[in-house]
Amino acid sequence: MRIVYRDFFLFEMANRELGENLMNDQIKAADINSSGHLQIGGVDALTLADKYGTPVLVYDVAKIRDQIHRFRNVFEQEHVEYEVSYASKAFASVAIYQVMKQEQAHIDVVSGGELATAIKADFPMEKISFHGNNKSEAELSMALEHGVGTIVVDNFHEIDLLKQLIADSSKRVNVQLRITPGIAAHTNSYIATGQVDSKFGFDVDSGQADKALRELMAISQINVTGIHAHIGSQIFDVQGFKGVAHKLVQIAADWQEKYDFHTKILNVGGGFGIKYSADDHPIHPEDFVRAIIDVVKKSAQESGIDMPAIWIEPGRSIVGPAGYTLYTIGSRKDIPGLLPYVSVDGGMGDNIRPALYNAKYEAVLARDPQAQNIEEVRIAGKYCESGDILSDRQPLPETHPGDVLVMLDTGAYDYAMASNYNRNPRPAVVFVENGRDQLVIKRESYDDLTHLDLNYSL
Ligand code: PLP
Repeated sequence: MRIVYRDFFLFEMANRELGENLMNDQIKAADINSSGHLQIGGVDALTLADKYGTPVLVYDVAKIRDQIHRFRNVFEQEHVEYEVSYASKAFASVAIYQVMKQEQAHIDVVSGGELATAIKADFPMEKISFHGNNKSEAELSMALEHGVGTIVVDNFHEIDLLKQLIADSSKRVNVQLRITPGIAAHTNSYIATGQVDSKFGFDVDSGQADKALRELMAISQINVTGIHAHIGSQIFDVQGFKGVAHKLVQIAADWQEKYDFHTKILNVGGGFGIKYSADDHPIHPEDFVRAIIDVVKKSAQESGIDMPAIWIEPGRSIVGPAGYTLYTIGSRKDIPGLLPYVSVDGGMGDNIRPALYNAKYEAVLARDPQAQNIEEVRIAGKYCESGDILSDRQPLPETHPGDVLVMLDTGAYDYAMASNYNRNPRPAVVFVENGRDQLVIKRESYDDLTHLDLNYSL
């Protein structure tokens, strides 16, 4: 007898408790409209798919604003000076920078390209921090020319470049000094950056960080405003943040004693985890922030330094949960005894994370996110790679070609890492707020794909 996976799934379902809720728990009742369709920011997902085509990445802007407010509120309640700096590598575009400007938020950029986008968005330059382990001379000049608020200095080569670039001017530059705190967060090892063996920042134990501070303090035009550390990404545990907060205070106290350096800012970086799938159990933003504040307050008091301002740099947690990628289902392949492949019109070109990090996502059908699931499938992309699988085990109701499938929580590091692999155009991006939608990044056309190509004539 041939047992296809779908039969097995139905058998399993029949044995489960009656009435068990198999609905995706990232979907709330408010996300479903009177037609039973998924709605995003008050707009029907099917209408969005119809209007903009698929694949399309849709952001619920209210969710973005809400996350920023949640981080901020705790600092306000605790009367602690702070900055919530959106790590825009998670998703950079003119429109998102404009939302950040409306929110009077601070942003991090990591390249001349992100900085150019922020300039185009008319984002206030003094509210930008410039990160990176190999900023070029051109990028540093650009940052200085535009008056970027903070350069997060990462290595000795960068100190030399900065010194040369400001030598013939009267420019004053605020810098934070990035250290590697020797703390590895409990996270996927591909994205852990806090451990000693990291390409980012100055090592503390070997004395590199001390040497960097001395060099920076010797340059009269440079004002070292703070100490920075970032321990990784998609972190679900407050211990790592408590550890880094404590370590930063210890370093600040040591440097105060040794060099009479008084830090104004401790920057604990980003990395606050979000819920991509049922296996993820993130901590509320408020709890992360409260834990960090508690440690800094207590350690600062114990070690006799003035309470510094605390900066955090959330990226994923601000835009991740606000993003929804809408795909259209096309072909299907059933293999006896194995999970079927259901293919969509996007894939690793608009979301490399499953192929790169084995990242998990969940998906629902736009026409009925509450529909009873009848099988588990693999959601395959359309790219010519066997590894182009967006989800390796997704429960779904019966699906048909033409159905709109919505992948949830795709707002961070998806479009930001998008490529034109197989010469597929990158998708459109749409912002939705208060029941209204607006195109903020156009879908690439085939002309866009070839506009940098030149004829060969040799
Ligand atoms: N800050 C720094 C220095 C980073 O390198 C990163 C991400 O790599 C972030 C903040 C943002 O991390 P996340 O998006 O996980 O919050």
